[in-house]
Amino acid sequence: NRDDLRCIGCGAKIQTTDPKEPGYTPQSALEKGLKNNELYCQRCFRLRHYNEIAPVSLSDDDFLRLLSQIRNDDALIVYVVDIFDFNGSIIPGLHRFVGSNPVLLVGNKEDLLPRSLRRSKLRDWLRQQANLAGLRPIDTVLVSAKKNHQIDYLLEVIDKYRQGRDVYFVGVTNVGKSTLVNQIIKRQTGIKELITTSKFPGTTLDKIEIPLDDGHQLIDTPGIIHQHQMAHVLSAKDLKYVSPQKEIKPRTYQLDPEQTIFIGGVARFDYLTGHHAGIIAYFDNNLPLHRTKLGNADRFYEKHLGELLTPPTKDELKEFPPLERQEFHLSEKSDVVFEGLGWITVPAGTTVAAWVPKGVSSLVRRAMI
Ligand code: GDP
Repeated sequence: NRDDLRCIGCGAKIQTTDPKEPGYTPQSALEKGLKNNELYCQRCFRLRHYNEIAPVSLSDDDFLRLLSQIRNDDALIVYVVDIFDFNGSIIPGLHRFVGSNPVLLVGNKEDLLPRSLRRSKLRDWLRQQANLAGLRPIDTVLVSAKKNHQIDYLLEVIDKYRQGRDVYFVGVTNVGKSTLVNQIIKRQTGIKELITTSKFPGTTLDKIEIPLDDGHQLIDTPGIIHQHQMAHVLSAKDLKYVSPQKEIKPRTYQLDPEQTIFIGGVARFDYLTGHHAGIIAYFDNNLPLHRTKLGNADRFYEKHLGELLTPPTKDELKEFPPLERQEFHLSEKSDVVFEGLGWITVPAGTTVAAWVPKGVSSLVRRAMI
């Protein structure tokens, strides 16, 4: 019976529809696996053959069950966030679930930051944001999983704080946790039998354990799906297009009050009051920015959304939520942050409005320059 097929690596139910859900197996691999009587899900297959893990996600309920087990373990929690989307990286209730275990905060995708920006300021900001979410990280480390920046340093820091304990990697989907864990696996050369998957008791979830020198382990947990991410507002194709892919080249605009900048069709920035001033925009280098007069902006958006102002594309307009406006008065030089997209640095003594799709957030922080 095909509905009952299970992966022999992790026991997840085999399915061929969603690559990020447990048990995903491409149709062709399913046929092959059945023929050879050796059916692994794609995740376990990669693990077995390439020492590589693929991301999986799960529902809130399962995730909470998993987290509650972490509380019972004496462990170091490595909490991975996307520096471009802190709110979208928050795990609701994490502070309750870590119990008295120490949390190490890891800000990923550092490679996207222009070199001119001070890393220490970003670290400070991440720590403040974590505090707001009820967490007191023992340390904050910036890395690039993709570019392999600071991974050795991270491993040193982990070793310093874990003091002979297990290490859990937690994070929502899309923050790059799998990419990071894969980098770590690559470093721990000599790990052959990686497929020591076992279940989190009481759940159907597999955990992947990477052995450490002293008999303890790094444990990769599945990612929770976070609703308030750009990832859930835009199609996968558009997401690729709006999330920064390469080191951001800042774009400077000389603005007068009552001018608007559209960020594709996904966000909007109004310069309301202040002097003639230079503002700096940090978004993906290919995302088109358009300047108009504030008085004309609503009409401009209506007329050009899906064409000049894209993404979203024309055929996605039906599902694309309206933009919501939030006004900020800035008494110091600030970054107006569009979560998941980037930010605009604005001088002190100005009033601005940020517009983002419903469900995504905008906020203000002290400028990172
Ligand atoms: P997971 O769902 O948290 O396991 O995330 P993945 O590891 O699958 O990564 C999600 C997306 O972020 C992928 O498109 C990755 O290529 C990208 N990504 C991961 N790490 C980095 C990084 O350090 N820098 C950049 N620029 N992109 C990254």
